[in-house]
Amino acid sequence: MRVRNKPWAKDYLADHPDQMVETPEALMGNWQSRFPKEQPLSVEIGTGKGQFIVEMARQHPDRNFIGIEIQMSVIAAALKKVVASELTNIQMVRTDGEAINTFFAKGEVSNIYLNFSDPWPKSRHAKRRLTSPVFLAHYADVLAKGGQIQFKTDNRGLFEYSLWSLNNFPMIFDGVWLDLHAATDGVEDIQTEYEQKFSAKGPIYQVIAHFPT
Ligand code: SAM
Repeated sequence: MRVRNKPWAKDYLADHPDQMVETPEALMGNWQSRFPKEQPLSVEIGTGKGQFIVEMARQHPDRNFIGIEIQMSVIAAALKKVVASELTNIQMVRTDGEAINTFFAKGEVSNIYLNFSDPWPKSRHAKRRLTSPVFLAHYADVLAKGGQIQFKTDNRGLFEYSLWSLNNFPMIFDGVWLDLHAATDGVEDIQTEYEQKFSAKGPIYQVIAHFPT
């Protein structure tokens, strides 16, 4: 996602140390100290402008949420939503989610959300996809027993690749949706900014899976 540089972003992030984590490595095994209540930890990688994580945190006060986003101007927009929400069960981190296994201890994370991840369509960039085996190995390191990865996208090529990648890792599928918005099984769908923008153009695909124990 290309975004216009926001000159105010750096200072805005620095002005909100209660919601922004600067050195995630220092919190390994101790993330609950950032929240008023100790409760299951959900992580979103590539959180974008924050609509999903803020709404999830609002609807699930019995869980703690961490949004990871690599771009400063984008996470600044998300942080604005977090601040406006006054919710205390969200923390934000500006960093590359690939290093997730250097931020969290084994089993510290209950589940991981990947929403509309960048597709990286060229084969030579496949390792950068958030569902590539490189990333999956790091997710496996930090997820608690039975902890799920929930991935949704409008990009059919990325979805096909992800099914293949998760299956080969191997992971166990808990559910696959080829048209999430037409689902009648009551599956939760808190919509992201991208989802609202692109769902009129075609179906939204979703897979939920966990690592075998
Ligand atoms: N999830 C949001 C949504 O659905 O509206 C944003 C989707 S946008 C296409 C993908 C986002 O993932 C971008 O904001 C990008 O900066 C972020 N991103 C891509 N690779 C990342 C990585 N390795 N670590 C953290 N964020 C990443």
